[in-house]
Amino acid sequence: MALVVMKFGGTSVGTTDRIMHVARRLIAAKERGDQVVAVVSAMGDVTDDLLGLAAAISLTPPVREMDMLLATGEQVTIALLAMAIHSLGHEAISFTGAQAGIVSDASHMKARIQEVRADRVMDALAAGRIVIVAGFQGLTPDGEITTLGRGGSDTTAVAVAAGLGADLCEIYTDVDGVYTADPRVEPAARKVETVSYEEMLELAATGARVLQLRAVEFARNHGVVLHVRSSFNDNPGTIVKEADETMEQAIISGVTHDTSEAKVTIRDVPDRPGVAAVVFGRLAEQNVNVDLIIQNVSEAGSTDISFTTPKEDLARAKRTVEAVVTELQAREWQVDEAVAKISLVGAGMKTHPGVAARMFATLAEAGVNLDMISTSSIRISCVVGADQAETAVRALHSAFGLEAAAIVAESSPSGRGAV
Ligand code: ADP
Ligand code: ASP
Ligand code: MG
Repeated sequence: MALVVMKFGGTSVGTTDRIMHVARRLIAAKERGDQVVAVVSAMGDVTDDLLGLAAAISLTPPVREMDMLLATGEQVTIALLAMAIHSLGHEAISFTGAQAGIVSDASHMKARIQEVRADRVMDALAAGRIVIVAGFQGLTPDGEITTLGRGGSDTTAVAVAAGLGADLCEIYTDVDGVYTADPRVEPAARKVETVSYEEMLELAATGARVLQLRAVEFARNHGVVLHVRSSFNDNPGTIVKEADETMEQAIISGVTHDTSEAKVTIRDVPDRPGVAAVVFGRLAEQNVNVDLIIQNVSEAGSTDISFTTPKEDLARAKRTVEAVVTELQAREWQVDEAVAKISLVGAGMKTHPGVAARMFATLAEAGVNLDMISTSSIRISCVVGADQAETAVRALHSAFGLEAAAIVAESSPSGRGAV
């Protein structure tokens, strides 16, 4: 008898019909003889709607109350799903994050899971029930409700799988797996059979929202193998696990885009030691996350500093930069919200030179202007205008041969290479 954790995202539980479909899927797993734990998200756009309600009341709501509000979304789904299973003649019990023993730290709206006290879930499984856990939420040791950041139900599923020592952690979503690009932007994108934690971390960090970044980190740290697959069919999806020699060795595993960041530029900053330390020190004090940074070559004793930050941190970033401009006697600052970060990810970059050159040449041919560039050992990212994001993704996807027809492993005996 296997213990399986099956996570269903918002679209997969978006209507009562779909909840009935999920109920049948869970029952089928139970009838195969498995112990079944479901982790579910809020229905459809419910989380966005709740955020909208809060924004209509206040632009700076207390984060504790935001979590109180956001956690209600998942609670609706768990109750309806348990009712659906009962209506089909099977035993199920729903648990909030707190009831399922999900203990988190107190950083509201981006809390981290510290521990899963799974006794209650284990008892319910032992009693032969299907257990349904609300994703995206936890409880601090002080008894406060928290949420885990957007997409956080993925992390709940992985943490529950690790806590229970599950045999399988399946992430059911509205696409067939992890693709070489967002299939909604690049119709020629190809589903990958397996992807390493290392590559999936970079893909998730740069915009492939099919898995939350923290879920991938948690999976890697606890050795939880993930199967990302569709809730609408039985096709095999994508396995995410430690790299090994049986994996496809494509040089590039995917291209991502992310429009969730804005670019801030501070102009004519006096060019003296310690200036960057002041700018980024003040931003850190205000809990503003910073991603890419660029400092121009200075001329005539002054320089420009640009950085990108998540749009959700932008209000704090603006207040901080306003004060920094005065403190450092810089000339001015400006914000560009219409930017996108385009990234190329692939473990093969470590051993294949020339990927960056090819990326820049491809973008130039497509008429895409580059604002900022950053790299890691297996990723190259460029910031471009938001209106050029889709053009950039498609041009790179095709230039690096990622579409279905062109897939060839690096070690292909035919000698054809993907790059
Ligand atoms: P869920 O509600 O099931 O958690 P999400 O909307 O969070 O689903 O994530 C699934 C979506 O991620 C897909 O609908 C797809 O548009 C998007 N996506 C972005 N990049 C990728 C990628 N590389 N592979 C698969 N899906 C991707
Ligand atoms: N409902 C939450 C969100 O929309 C969590 C999740 O779906 O994973 O971000
Ligand atoms: Mg998601």
